[in-house]
Amino acid sequence: MNTSKLLEIAIAEANNAKKSGMKYSHGAVGLYKNNIVSTARNTRRTSWLQRLYANRVNEPNKTCEHAEVAAIRKAKEIDTLLVVRIGKNNKLLSSAPCKICRELISDSEVKHLYYSTESGIKYECMK
Ligand SMILES: [Zn+2]
Repeated sequence: MNTSKLLEIAIAEANNAKKSGMKYSHGAVGLYKNNIVSTARNTRRTSWLQRLYANRVNEPNKTCEHAEVAAIRKAKEIDTLLVVRIGKNNKLLSSAPCKICRELISDSEVKHLYYSTESGIKYECMK
């Protein structure tokens, strides 16, 4: 799976968030052994996983599901996560995971984390 294709998919998801009227537009792609296993965006809807981790880090009011949480929730197995945030004209903005997502990512099987910044994609090895 080539990187620019993955980025394209993540940006398309972020655009779906934008179209649905979300204030911030995040998209995520989950992979397992180089295959896409989930795609997701942030939504106003909550999920059991979002509530669980929001409570865990003492931010219980953050109930709207984040793209990372949805991508992990939808995947049966996951080893790589790409998250992007877009602004005007699909410009990449920082999508460094928040406290809730960090906690979940570190509890998950995600080994490779990629996220957008204003200057490109940043990589973190999680395990
Ligand atoms: Zn988050």
